[in-house]
Amino acid sequence: MLGLMQDWPLTVPKILEHALRYHAEREVVTRVPEGGIERYTYADLGARARRVAKLLRKLGVRRGEVVGTCATNTSRHMEVWYGLMGIGAVCHTLNPRLFAEQLVYICNHAEDRYVFLDGAFVGIAEALAPKCPSVRGFVFLTDRAHMPETELENAFCYEELLSEVDDDVEWCELDENEAAGLCYTSGTTGNPKGVLYSHRSNVLHAMSVVQPDSFGLGSRSVVLPVVPMFHANAWALTFAAPMVGAKLVMPGADLSGSALHELFETEGVTFTAAVPTVWLGLLDFMEANDLRLSSLQRVVIGGSACPRVALEKFEEVYGVDVTHGWGMTEMSPVGTNSCLKAGMESWPRDAQIFQKLKQGRPAFGVEMRVVDDDGKELPRDGKAFGRLLVRGAAIAKGYHKGEGGQVLDAQGFFDTGDVATLDPHGYMQITDRAKDVIKSGGEWISSIELENLAVGHPEVLEAAVIGVPHPKWDERPLLIVVRREGSRVSKAGLLAFMRGKVANWWLPDDVAFVDEIPHTATGKIQKRTLREKFAEHPAAD
Ligand code: AMP
Repeated sequence: MLGLMQDWPLTVPKILEHALRYHAEREVVTRVPEGGIERYTYADLGARARRVAKLLRKLGVRRGEVVGTCATNTSRHMEVWYGLMGIGAVCHTLNPRLFAEQLVYICNHAEDRYVFLDGAFVGIAEALAPKCPSVRGFVFLTDRAHMPETELENAFCYEELLSEVDDDVEWCELDENEAAGLCYTSGTTGNPKGVLYSHRSNVLHAMSVVQPDSFGLGSRSVVLPVVPMFHANAWALTFAAPMVGAKLVMPGADLSGSALHELFETEGVTFTAAVPTVWLGLLDFMEANDLRLSSLQRVVIGGSACPRVALEKFEEVYGVDVTHGWGMTEMSPVGTNSCLKAGMESWPRDAQIFQKLKQGRPAFGVEMRVVDDDGKELPRDGKAFGRLLVRGAAIAKGYHKGEGGQVLDAQGFFDTGDVATLDPHGYMQITDRAKDVIKSGGEWISSIELENLAVGHPEVLEAAVIGVPHPKWDERPLLIVVRREGSRVSKAGLLAFMRGKVANWWLPDDVAFVDEIPHTATGKIQKRTLREKFAEHPAAD
């Protein structure tokens, strides 16, 4: 017998319409990349998104076609998202930190019709223009006064185009399974692969992240997404905030400690989310200038493992609750959060920190299991580690245009490429990316655990651990360190600091001091480059 409930497609325009009906006066504030703060309301956002929709139709963009955006977190960028998705076009976020050749490949693969970009990325438009025949024009998200100088023939000014259209437009009646967004993920091998989000997956994922044990957002929240809209949908915050009527504070291009701190304080921000490097920068800035945080309640740290020092400082010095989060582009992206469960409030502080530093447990909508190399499920005992597989409502079942082939196993699980443990409380802990684990004497060493330990040293700015070839042990860990300014900490000093905190045979054989550690376009340590650089590193006896 079928249920007798309404068929109410879960589509992105419904999020905006809900915000307009119930939270029209709530503010959206932007630090504009060209300078200054602009503020308007969800009512304005809605009206301007409609004008974008009208403009797109005028430009000939049709339902199902793909349009690129290459922009920082601003209200204009958000208008374009909602305008695009509202007419059934697919919003393709391009990461401006990628190399030009990668952007050319991605733009051609996606067949972008237009690209909307920040003025600062005019160089990207110029690199794409001669090589991407599908792109009919580049629309700069600015006004005439701030248009970048360019020889491009098909460069347009966003504000000028918008001023030529009105907002008299209806959203498309969409099927919830239609594509809404496209984001390419750059694997270490092969070409970048496109993750194609649907309206349904975006809505369900946003409903999931607002829950108390996930991001905990509501109409009284003031949300500042530092995580970029061009990398994994700003962790759903641009959908989640209007869904619950939270005030949004968009940081634009300046993600420095001073710029963020100023916005936190002047706008009364209660919630924010970013990768660890951003937070280490902010913590340094606040410490050096003896500053406090007066409104911030929760910070989500994810994208890379949360260093203990960041968690401790936020919670103990600044009184801000830290949630460690894990996810990936293919998961929309949020997979887990490390919020404590009932009963854990009374645990000793050290045990709580240990638990919160795990990557966490999923909200409803994500299933996880850990398997060995033969695909056999491993016990959830917090010790056995293997490949982490996931299944759920907002997780990719394949890549755009079939790239990468079949990606699900017989039970419909997706292999994350991460190696992890699951504990009896349901918390997952990543020990490594599968390709980064260090295999020493037939046993595995977790590079992430060693890195976390090393950055706990007060004189270490950043640390990476890789396996280097060893004639007897196969591989041994090498610790690569960027020292803080003025620090002279030595190899012996660092190893002494780490000794006793991990098994002795896990301790790195050597420490290399460098000025800089290379990062990928999404802010992760580029281990492949490090492995190449240190391939000839002499083995210890
Ligand atoms: P991306 O698709 O670029 O967001 O990258 C996803 C990958 O980032 C995951 O598969 C993990 O390897 C890594 N990652 C994300 N969050 C964390 C975290 N909290 N701790 C460790 N690794 C993480």
